[in-house]
Amino acid sequence: MKYVLVTGGVVSGLGKGVTASSIGVVLEACGLRVTSIKIDPYLNTDAGTMSPFEHGEVFVLDDGGEVDLDLGNYERFLDVTLTKDNNITTGKIYQSVLDKERKGDYLGKTVQVVPHITDAIKDWIESVSLIPVDGKEGQADVCVIELGGTVGDIESMPFIEALRQLSFSVGQENFCLIHVSLIPVLGVVGEQKTKPTQHSVRELRALGLTPHFLACRSAQPLLEATKAKLSQFCHVPAANILNIHDVPNIWHVPLLLRNQNAHHSILKQLNLTSVATAPDLDSWTKMAETFDNLTDHVKIAMVGKYIGLTDSYLSVVKALLHACIACSLKPQIEWIAASDLEDESEKSTPEAHAAAWKILKSAECVLVPGGFGDRGVSGMVLAAKYARENKVPYLGICLGMQIAVIEFARSVLGLERANSTEFDAQTPDPVVIFMPEGSRTHMGSTMRLGSRRTHLESRDSLTSKLYGDVCYVDERHRHRYEVNPEVSQVLEEAGLRLVGKDDTGKRIEVIELHDHPFYVGVQFHPEFKSRPTRPSPLFLGKSLFSFQN
Ligand code: GLN
Repeated sequence: MKYVLVTGGVVSGLGKGVTASSIGVVLEACGLRVTSIKIDPYLNTDAGTMSPFEHGEVFVLDDGGEVDLDLGNYERFLDVTLTKDNNITTGKIYQSVLDKERKGDYLGKTVQVVPHITDAIKDWIESVSLIPVDGKEGQADVCVIELGGTVGDIESMPFIEALRQLSFSVGQENFCLIHVSLIPVLGVVGEQKTKPTQHSVRELRALGLTPHFLACRSAQPLLEATKAKLSQFCHVPAANILNIHDVPNIWHVPLLLRNQNAHHSILKQLNLTSVATAPDLDSWTKMAETFDNLTDHVKIAMVGKYIGLTDSYLSVVKALLHACIACSLKPQIEWIAASDLEDESEKSTPEAHAAAWKILKSAECVLVPGGFGDRGVSGMVLAAKYARENKVPYLGICLGMQIAVIEFARSVLGLERANSTEFDAQTPDPVVIFMPEGSRTHMGSTMRLGSRRTHLESRDSLTSKLYGDVCYVDERHRHRYEVNPEVSQVLEEAGLRLVGKDDTGKRIEVIELHDHPFYVGVQFHPEFKSRPTRPSPLFLGKSLFSFQN
């Protein structure tokens, strides 16, 4: 196995994940098989209990892993299916070591960070890198490892030490270290500053790791003089100083790396030149250029709770992009804080209320994504009602589907207080309820998670048609509540089409409306499996049919 380690220096938020996945794309374009591991040095076992407000979305894998959103980038860029073990956290490592300690595996020994924690990290990396993730048999050629955080963080120290040991044990030609750093420009003089990078490389070297490459983030292309200085002070050959300057969209990053011959130098470092081909990035070039040149817009209202940080719905945004590229439209995503639509807000914040409704009414379609907790729920119900009554295309994802059911029960069945027990435990009409198999005591990893089968009962349903006339789909889930199976019949009699069910035939997975151009709610999250070249059918919607004709 060949390892490419990507570390970061100076500041967080440099786009290390995009850089690491773009390196993977370039290597894949050279005919190599690539897998990836993301290390998050925090203590949480996984991202499942973290707030999207703080960390952005929780990405869900086929195997039910609730992981860092960077794994979503890897899946989309490399077109692979990762496992929960591809995301390593301090929590997972300590848990495995402590479990072994309790079992007596270290009997007689003092259990320490070095060597026990560091050994556990190395073993984890070495075994996970062997898992095939691209649907083929056998191991990948290269494993890209991204170390989260910034070099020098206290919590990443055991990982740095483990990776130093790994680099030594696997040998020079199997290990390539790429350090992502920032080259700021200061003041009126506008000079590209190398000092922060010098310091972070010095820090890395003090910890025993010497970067083979620098990937420098900058606003403008790096000047030759800047590169020369970096090379001299950071102990990195000038040819190995890569520059990722600002580009119009992230699909340009693999192209930028290819244009700087990054693949050539990385392959040389890893002694892979003889097995690799010339990079074929035609589809990436097409995608990046198509996106830059889109002129027609489509206005999409995203009605959610976590709209302050758009990373909270990263995969939904990406899925919209994939679908838009396929129909040559530029997505104009209009974020609406659901609570601004509510009657309450008309009194407390009339301007925000008016603005929110103006946006909703001008949008060509409405999307209510997943979410938890009762904030903004009434606003989402109003958005669903608006879309249903005005025949505006509506896609409800997970919470968005539950909202559509609540709205239907209230407006069509006349059950004014119909609700989910998540938002009103005392509701007389619980149309959405806690799933019997859920845990009321433990929050971590206890939801209905990962890939589950949804049987599309009715072949004439829009959903079945969109997925290509299929009778089932396997999509990823993450929820604790479900539509109350006891109300299925009344909902159906009143005109709500319950077209998708789980394996038991009882749990409602997909709802549709007949007399509406596009009103679809799904209990699963189609956004997690959308790929740049294979947009999710539900996001593409009816435009899919126009392509087929
Ligand atoms: N809060 C809802 C549930 O737990 C919806 C979850 C979601 O949208 N991911 O079922």
